[in-house]
Amino acid sequence: MFTLFLVVPCYNEEEVLPESAAVLRDKLRALQKEGTVSTESRIVFVNDGSRDRTWEIIKALHAADPIFRGISLSRNRGHQNALLAGLLTVQDECDAAISLDADLQDDVNAIDEMAQKFSEGCDIVYGVRSGRKKDSFFKRFTAEGFYRMMQFLGADTVFNHADFRLMSARAIKALGEFREVNLFLRGLVPMVGFRSDCVYYERLERKAGESKYPLGKMLSFAFEGITSLSVKPIRFITLLGAFVFLCSFAILIYSLIRHFTGNTVRGWTFLAVSIWALGGIQLLSIGVIGEYIGKVYLETKKRPRYIVDQYIK
Ligand code: UDP
Ligand code: MG
Repeated sequence: MFTLFLVVPCYNEEEVLPESAAVLRDKLRALQKEGTVSTESRIVFVNDGSRDRTWEIIKALHAADPIFRGISLSRNRGHQNALLAGLLTVQDECDAAISLDADLQDDVNAIDEMAQKFSEGCDIVYGVRSGRKKDSFFKRFTAEGFYRMMQFLGADTVFNHADFRLMSARAIKALGEFREVNLFLRGLVPMVGFRSDCVYYERLERKAGESKYPLGKMLSFAFEGITSLSVKPIRFITLLGAFVFLCSFAILIYSLIRHFTGNTVRGWTFLAVSIWALGGIQLLSIGVIGEYIGKVYLETKKRPRYIVDQYIK
């Protein structure tokens, strides 16, 4: 028997929270009854600076049943930071914590298997989506493309695993030692190491409310992940530069031949295209390098990743 905490980041989730809370409570109670987890186990909602009644609902849940706890951040810091805030705040009070979304897209029935694997000695258990039947074609295509790209770029992520995972207290402590501000937990957790395993589940539909990850946020999240885990894009730019430089030799020879054969005016199209192509490549490259410099800039500031306003327990 061990103490299990469920950590749930919530941003404007008033529509789905009451239902999620009931489902999670029933799950935890069932686990307590069968003697898998202790009666000290809790459900911790992290309010990520919501603008709706989310925090009021969390407070009411806590008042009605002490199995619920709430952490309120001083402002919206994004999913990854909210999750980290929750995990680091509870790390000394539990043996293991499972992070999951407030919308119940992560199947709570996978928790049993996670608990089982933890009892067998795993420090980290990844929840992996066995399929994406409920996702739209577009979401599936972009998301799987993203995981493939991460693999290609050499970042060690678990394919089709989002942030539904169990971590032991010592794994959370180790994660806390990673001091970076540009957080991408899916890439960091595998770096923690320890014995780990996967459990498979079917990703469900959002119970209520709408996604807090519209396309724009999804793209910037993917970009964040890539640039904070891999320096390969910079290397590609170097290779691209070398390639373009080699091409320019060929073009030099070509232009000389053209010049001596007295055929110079007709090269206009070619020139125009080259200017645009090279200009584009240069701007793009400077942009990518700038992205990394921006990251270095933010990391050197060492700003706090989150600020806890209240912790009710
Ligand atoms: N979330 C958060 N802060 C944010 C955005 C989202 O804490 O700034 C939480 C949200 O409440 C949910 C989880 O992160 O519990 C995942 O968000 P969502 O379900 O909207 O993403 P999707 O499943 O559509 O990718
Ligand atoms: Mg969701």
